[in-house]
Amino acid sequence: MRGADRVVVIGAGPVGLCLALALAQEDIRVCLIETLGDGNFLDQIPRAGTNHPATLEMFDRIGLYRRIEPRGIIAPVFHYWDRSEHALVAAFDHAHLKNDTRFPYVLQCERIKIVEEALKMAKAHPDIDLRLATTFTSFEQSADTVIARVVNPAGESEAIEGRYIVSGEGARSIVRKDLDIEFEGFTYADRTLNIEVAYDFRKHGYAERNYISDPVEWSNLFHWKGPPDRWRVHFPTKPEEEPEVLQRPEALQARLQGFLPKPGDYDICGSNLYTVHQRVAKKFRVGRAILAGDAAHVNSPIGAMGMNSGVHDAFNLADKLVRILRGEAEEGELDRYERQRRHVAITHTQAQTIRNKRLLAEQDPAIRKRNNEELRRTAEDPKLARDFLLRSSLIASLREAEEIA
Ligand SMILES: Cc1cc2nc3c(=O)[nH]c(=O)nc-3n(C[C@H](O)[C@H](O)[C@H](O)COP(=O)(O)OP(=O)(O)OC[C@H]3O[C@@H](n4cnc5c(N)ncnc54)[C@H](O)[C@@H]3O)c2cc1C
Repeated sequence: MRGADRVVVIGAGPVGLCLALALAQEDIRVCLIETLGDGNFLDQIPRAGTNHPATLEMFDRIGLYRRIEPRGIIAPVFHYWDRSEHALVAAFDHAHLKNDTRFPYVLQCERIKIVEEALKMAKAHPDIDLRLATTFTSFEQSADTVIARVVNPAGESEAIEGRYIVSGEGARSIVRKDLDIEFEGFTYADRTLNIEVAYDFRKHGYAERNYISDPVEWSNLFHWKGPPDRWRVHFPTKPEEEPEVLQRPEALQARLQGFLPKPGDYDICGSNLYTVHQRVAKKFRVGRAILAGDAAHVNSPIGAMGMNSGVHDAFNLADKLVRILRGEAEEGELDRYERQRRHVAITHTQAQTIRNKRLLAEQDPAIRKRNNEELRRTAEDPKLARDFLLRSSLIASLREAEEIA
């Protein structure tokens, strides 16, 4: 294939790496551009980490699953708790999906481990021209090609040619902004505080993954493999609270002690504060420029759908680009990518994550009672539980997307 026939992928996040590997493994050449270099690639703030069954199948397809499984925790069950009542409300077991997927569990494995392993694979693949420490700045497109402008490690400006450019740059996508594509939606006024702590919450009945409702202070609690094993606890904050005050060691200790009192201090490994957006790009494609992952849609992490749905974009897009570049499909296939994945982003990911936050933060006692009863009933009925898990694990969204012409 000539230089102009390759795909230029911006961003070696989970989406860019999965796309690059899925294309290269089908003999499509890729130029993968990442602003981080070998020296700082692993210094990224903690983010996603719950990998749903359908995503595990995709990781398996490119040989990534076997590399990350030993670095993660297999978690078949997740919990809903009511903190105000100190009660476990419902336990959902992915075993209900045993006939729907080869992986009836989630893998708790942080984004950083996934990109670390995928980056090793990309480095070893002869069809991936990996440009680390290279920052994408702009692009232009004509009827046949795209030209991406980058600043290379020597600080020089360089032009990289390809047939298509895919923005896997994350939420601040330059491609999306250059194309003037509206990022429709809203941003929550309150930020979420993430505390990483080495303490085994299973001693208190928690599962590896827990969603905890409370009218005052909802939270999420997730387990990650060490050493040392760590747990991530999410808390809401008030918009007016100062970041440095919120993250003072004594403030973090007080949060954790309020959540679960224990003798002595918690062993806190780190904390960060993040803003949560619920947004979907108005278009996922303009000509030869395509958006995927956080460049195309962002959402609250409650429900673990951001990285997962981004990876699903990557595989959907890879299949279409392969067929187009081999001459087996028309370029109109890319419109189907937009129809399918934008539908999923709006109807499934946005709708579910907004609902999840509302469920956890609900303040009306009567609605909280009704929500808890419904969760209990759903978890206890095998058919309802399977339907619920098909949605929460994004299998339903993939099946629905397949139906879209
Ligand atoms: C605290 C938190 C917790 C989360 N938890 C979950 C979870 O449990 N499950 C889940 O599914 N999702 C979760 N998410 C969301 C998830 O992290 C993102 O959806 C996911 O990382 C998006 O992947 P991506 O590859 O699209 O973008 P990113 O992961 O943002 O990667 C983008 C890459 O592009 C590079 N880049 C950016 N600009 C340029 C440029 N100009 N030139 C070159 N390179 C560039 C970046 O350095 C980066 O490597 C969470 C997010 C947050 C903030």
